[in-house]
Amino acid sequence: MGQRFNTRTVHFQSKDVARNMSKAQPIYQTSAFTFKDLDDMESFYQGDKEYLYSRFGNPNTDDLGKGVAAIEEAEDGVATSSGMSAILAGVLAVVKPGEHIVASEDLYGGTYQLLAVELLNLGIEVSFVSFEQIEEIKEAIQPNTKLIYTESVTNPLLRVENLEMVKALADEFQLITMIDNTFATPYLLQPTKFGADLVIHSATKYIGGHSDVTAGVLVGKKEYIEKARGKVVSLGCNLSPFEAWLTCRGLKTLSIRMERQSRNALALANALKTNERVLKVYYPSELSSKGNGAMVSIELNSSVNVEEFFKSLRWIKIAPTLAGVETTVSYPIRTSHRTIPNSTREKLGITNGLVRISVGIEDELDIIETFEKAIEVAAK
Ligand SMILES: *Cc1c(COP(=O)(O)O)cnc(C)c1O
Repeated sequence: MGQRFNTRTVHFQSKDVARNMSKAQPIYQTSAFTFKDLDDMESFYQGDKEYLYSRFGNPNTDDLGKGVAAIEEAEDGVATSSGMSAILAGVLAVVKPGEHIVASEDLYGGTYQLLAVELLNLGIEVSFVSFEQIEEIKEAIQPNTKLIYTESVTNPLLRVENLEMVKALADEFQLITMIDNTFATPYLLQPTKFGADLVIHSATKYIGGHSDVTAGVLVGKKEYIEKARGKVVSLGCNLSPFEAWLTCRGLKTLSIRMERQSRNALALANALKTNERVLKVYYPSELSSKGNGAMVSIELNSSVNVEEFFKSLRWIKIAPTLAGVETTVSYPIRTSHRTIPNSTREKLGITNGLVRISVGIEDELDIIETFEKAIEVAAK
């Protein structure tokens, strides 16, 4: 009988822990594996042994890649050195020079840079369009379009992507779909259930959950993951065993962290909606029945001095990342969206008053009171 989500999330590590039966998974902190004799080594090439050299594969990195795949009910998965390299490996596994990608225009800044600059240099062209207009997407599709790329929840305005629409388009035009599921996490959303072919996570964020590793995971259809694994090996963007081990440790508490963090985020969003100095609160309402995620973005009105606001948050730190157990804030126009052209930024609604909040696991009232106080103190 198959396990349910929370059980899978704690018991995803399937490796035999060898003779000593250690309760926690050992760290295979090794660059390579040894062999008794030449026949034994040959058995790796025959597929009877799993490990030869850690860049090709390692029990800890496999735990993470295959673990997230099992949790998401995807066919296969591979861990990578970062979210960025998971995107790169996934894209290069399915798109060749001369082919074309249609991507949403409101992507994570680093992804925009990778697709718009680096891929173009490799001869892969990308059209960025608003995914709110299906006609715009259709118009951007060319005969050489291979991939449709978007994020299940966008950053920083937290728009929830219509994955059914994306899948329908992919079917109509025979395209491969790749979804960045970092903000939603497998706990709240499993894009493979909507027919996504490839799903990437910056495991640096919620999967790791403790702001102590940079890591990525790519899951999806077996044939694509096998190709992506080849890219990870040849590009050398494998994850280190220790980082993989830490990320696996974080993953085990994904469910309870997301449960608490989503609840706190909802409470904060509701409290700030009634604050007269907050012009807008961005918080999804239709992401999942388990909650709507732990990110809240707010637009402060012009009566609030943004510099003062950031200075007045006391224990809530400014951090150009998200998803840790601690509540943090970031300022998109000076961090994640620095490289996005001004005109695109304005079109997207990423204004000077926009603050992105990553809600942690603290007491809900401490979080709410600290934001309310900082807004009050920073009011001109
Ligand atoms: C952080 C992030 C990435 C990049 O991940 P790294 O682990 O920093 O390489 C990609 N997509 C989204 C949505 C992110 O938040």
